[in-house]
Amino acid sequence: MPTFVYMTRCDGCGHCVDICPSDIMHIDKVTRRAYNIEPNMCWECFSCVKACPHHAIDVRGYADFAPLGHSVRVHRDEEKGVIAWRIKFRNGEKDMDLLAPITTKPWGKHIPQLRDAAAPSQEMRNSQLLFNEPKYIRLDEGGLHTLESNGLKFKAGVYY
Ligand code: SF4
Ligand code: SF4
Repeated sequence: MPTFVYMTRCDGCGHCVDICPSDIMHIDKVTRRAYNIEPNMCWECFSCVKACPHHAIDVRGYADFAPLGHSVRVHRDEEKGVIAWRIKFRNGEKDMDLLAPITTKPWGKHIPQLRDAAAPSQEMRNSQLLFNEPKYIRLDEGGLHTLESNGLKFKAGVYY
């Protein structure tokens, strides 16, 4: 269920641009409003929906989930500690309110501040690896981690 922006509600603050892991939320240079440049590449993480302070981003529900004429609103309520999904069907009568607790860390705490990161070297610029990738797969700590390097042993059989 990719996202789209109600441009009349958007004020161009850029929170959705900062949070999108797929880098597809962009600010239009002329209108200064956000838009999803490539809905097919949307991970459907809904981080942008929850981040938008003006509830300007909505979700385009799949047909089997919410047929044509529906609306899906997602609202992150920090005070109540919940994320509320409101799904309204096209007959206008049947709708659902789903509530889920916020289980993530305080909002904005883990948005990378790229301005604080050191500029990439020429070698990094020429590399095919993405920014931060060696860190995430831990290549910069001496190679890929294994069970042995983490002091673990493989346990045979099926277990949970
Ligand atoms: S739902 Fe996630 S991947 Fe899709 S546009 Fe929003 S932040 Fe980006
Ligand atoms: S977070 Fe909301 S208001 Fe801010 S740029 Fe994105 S869509 Fe617009």
